[in-house]
Amino acid sequence: MHEILSELRPDSIVLDLGCRSGSFPVTATQAKVVRFDLDFGLGPCSVQGDAQLLPFREFSFDGIIANHSLEHIVGMKPCLRELRRVLKNDGRLYVAVPDASTLSDWLYRWLAHGGGHVNAIVDSNRFAEVLEAETGLRVAAVRLLHTSFAFANVNGPVKWSRRIWLIGGGQEWILRTASYCARRCDAWLGTRWSVYGWAFYLGEMKFIDEVPATNVCVRCGAAHVSEWLKAIGTVKPGWLWRSYSCPECQTANAFTDDPPRPT
Ligand SMILES: [Zn+2]
Repeated sequence: MHEILSELRPDSIVLDLGCRSGSFPVTATQAKVVRFDLDFGLGPCSVQGDAQLLPFREFSFDGIIANHSLEHIVGMKPCLRELRRVLKNDGRLYVAVPDASTLSDWLYRWLAHGGGHVNAIVDSNRFAEVLEAETGLRVAAVRLLHTSFAFANVNGPVKWSRRIWLIGGGQEWILRTASYCARRCDAWLGTRWSVYGWAFYLGEMKFIDEVPATNVCVRCGAAHVSEWLKAIGTVKPGWLWRSYSCPECQTANAFTDDPPRPT
């Protein structure tokens, strides 16, 4: 989403849809940020309401971020038509959703007793068609998103039910080992154990790097490009795996190389 947020000018407005307290920090963009959610108890510049009937005028926003929110919204198609209505003609839309067929999403829904996911998305091509049909925008790029199972982290904001003890209590060393093994299995055996879902970029866009970032922090969930982590010197050798310190939260993580970029 940072490709969109970083290009917005100071006089533009971005809608953060279904974000609770925010799906990105205000420092990620120069634009004015409006947070929108069905739940009450939000901060400044926040609006509470129904995503199927957005309380905004036509062409209000230069950008819209729907980061892990559409899977929660009953009436997703009416919501997408509302997003098109409130987005400017040259605006850009970012949509990130989980793949409901993955281990990560299954584990999340099992821990969270459903987790409020009412839309199960399992086919990125089919979902891209739905996005284009309902918004009238073109899908310019799709990136596979990876997971580190950070939602289960014992240091995270969610206090899970007793089910968490069946998967090691959400201890960081267990998540680090599990996400490293999942990534290695994916690379060697072609499984999708470390996959979370997809990010869709809609509208006219400059180049979007579609190579997935496999290094996702076990604590804060931030994804980083492997070549960049090497370039800043945070990757260290180890006897089990190479490790890196997350540039966002300084947590120790196992390191893997991303798939090669097409030349
Ligand atoms: Zn982190």
